[in-house]
Amino acid sequence: MSGGEIRGVLYDIDGVLVTSWRPLDGASSAVRELRERGLRRAFLTNTTSRTCAEIGERLQTAGFEIDTGEIVTAGRLTAEFLRRRYPGARVWVLNHGDIAEDLAGLELVEDRPDVVVIGGAGTEFTHRALSRVAELMLDGVPAVAMQGGLTWATDDGLRIDTGAYLPGLSAAGNAEIEVIGKPAPTGFRTCAQLMGLEPSEIVMVGDDLHSDVLAGQAVGMSGLLVRTGKFRPGVLAAATTAPDHVIDSVAVLPELLSTSGDTA
Ligand SMILES: [Mg+2]
Repeated sequence: MSGGEIRGVLYDIDGVLVTSWRPLDGASSAVRELRERGLRRAFLTNTTSRTCAEIGERLQTAGFEIDTGEIVTAGRLTAEFLRRRYPGARVWVLNHGDIAEDLAGLELVEDRPDVVVIGGAGTEFTHRALSRVAELMLDGVPAVAMQGGLTWATDDGLRIDTGAYLPGLSAAGNAEIEVIGKPAPTGFRTCAQLMGLEPSEIVMVGDDLHSDVLAGQAVGMSGLLVRTGKFRPGVLAAATTAPDHVIDSVAVLPELLSTSGDTA
């Protein structure tokens, strides 16, 4: 791949392994084959609507042999960040979905929060709720975003994600918003630690050029874009930085890693 020996694969989940929790053709056998070859792995997802345990169950139902401990979600990363940066803080979470289990140890409140957390976009992102986020920011309450993805793909078409709201909220609230999940480096580095590898030994596989692939390359990983999920040729054509590799789907990954001659 980009020069060094690849010893681990960091997988995005949605649009790479599954779409609307249905497996993509050949994905589960590719993931299994790479594990049998001894490659280390982790699964980094911007999903904020389900807990790590629920995602593990969904993936197992879809035919993937993946342990919950191998899954790193934006929700889990954000909870770790809040416990470290704002210990004991009262936290208001605006999020689509209930992931209370992954937010254990945080004091979740509706009124007078010390920190505002902007989770995954959905029907909770009403005009009133987003206005309240901006107002709290103007009052000096720090804002944290679980992730900064712009879109995700569903069976029913594309959906606008949290990252699409952040520039406007930051301007209206007159403050920076700290992003924790992809495309921020935090999750990529956490996953490298989890795998016990240097970023240069890892290939990041995703369907989002910016949030997955180029963000992985920015921390020193190899980046591999798949033409599934939310992949759009126009986004790739317009990019000023190229991914290290582009393949039709994750099903082709075992072949790519064996022909590049540098797998473990
Ligand atoms: Mg994806």
